[in-house]
Amino acid sequence: MHIPFSPPDIRQEDIDAVVDVLKSGWITSGPVGTQFAQALTEYCDAAGTVLVNSCTAGLELALVALGVGPGDEVIVPAYTYTASASVIHHVGATIVMVDVAPGSYFVDPSTWENAITERTKAIIAVDIAGVMNDTTAIYRAIENRKELFHPTNSLQEKIGRVALIIDAAHSLGAVRNGAISGSVADLTAFSFHAVKNLTTGEGGALCWSKNLPVDHDDFERTLRILCLHGQDKSALEKMNAAAWEYDILTPAFKWNLADIMAALGLSQLKRYPEIISRRHEIIDRYDDILSDTPTTSLMHVGEDFRSSGHLYLLTLTGYSVAQRNAFIDDMYEAGVSCNVHYKPLPELTAYQNLGFSSADYPQALAQYTSEVTLPLHTCLSDEQVEYVASTARNLILK
Ligand SMILES: *Cc1c(COP(=O)(O)O)cnc(C)c1O
Repeated sequence: MHIPFSPPDIRQEDIDAVVDVLKSGWITSGPVGTQFAQALTEYCDAAGTVLVNSCTAGLELALVALGVGPGDEVIVPAYTYTASASVIHHVGATIVMVDVAPGSYFVDPSTWENAITERTKAIIAVDIAGVMNDTTAIYRAIENRKELFHPTNSLQEKIGRVALIIDAAHSLGAVRNGAISGSVADLTAFSFHAVKNLTTGEGGALCWSKNLPVDHDDFERTLRILCLHGQDKSALEKMNAAAWEYDILTPAFKWNLADIMAALGLSQLKRYPEIISRRHEIIDRYDDILSDTPTTSLMHVGEDFRSSGHLYLLTLTGYSVAQRNAFIDDMYEAGVSCNVHYKPLPELTAYQNLGFSSADYPQALAQYTSEVTLPLHTCLSDEQVEYVASTARNLILK
């Protein structure tokens, strides 16, 4: 038996939807993408959505749209995947890294607040494992430092404070305080990478909030143009109108999502509530089976929140990195692929070369040291769920 960590759950209806696009005569960005973007806007209770070819592109698009660049600072947690921070580097801004709270995967609001300077333009918070950040608390932290904010363009001026961007690679469908992921932060970037809850193979989306002080139609057009070479007409518009002529308004990016992939996303979104429910069933079962072991798992449900159930993060109390790694090897021997989320950014060469050191991020390092992520996906049978958790339990109690 081999239980993979996170295989894609592709059903016949997904395949049929992709085949329909392949046969339709229009395979790049077009009508199916428009439908998928609209469906996401509704599902996320957002003002609008632009599809992109990755969450990374979505995060960078957010920074570019806000006009963040050299001389600006953007704050990001040390405990995340590289994409949350690399986009700051891509636009030429300065990465300001903050540590997570003790025993937590999240940054304390006071830590965000203390990191804000006159140069800060945005915070990128990460909805790790599909648990939403408390955006109310982050907005309060931003508000407390409002007098430091120095806008350098008209959008920043209209917003009037540091912008809140969420790396929501994990949190499609998560809720907190009655608000769904995508509706509360200024800008929210989702990932549809192969290992995420909803997948288009590679892909992503950037949503923006109804509270963002922009003309929503204009903003959508601006984002679309940024994603398509800065060209004033889409490929479909050029063809439909038999109007070949176009202008390039700005030397921009190539971040659009093809309809082949949008079809996969739209098809999966139709059964997405079911996907989240099944993930929560598995989380509950893992929690039950591991309840008598010296471990703690990240909470996916609380009084005021329910996650998207993306990752099962388990802390093996007292384990060193070597012991944790040996546990992962033993699980693999028993046929179960596990993972670690995440090796903190200061542990990685790229960020060390930028001057970051784990000595300054002790809580992130502590979280990483004894963390293991168990497989959590909708291809797992009930028997496999029992097997994963009981195998882990036996190894821990051995
Ligand atoms: C997967 C992931 C990303 C990147 O998503 P892509 O769609 O591959 O660009 C960013 N942040 C986090 C936390 C992720 O897990």
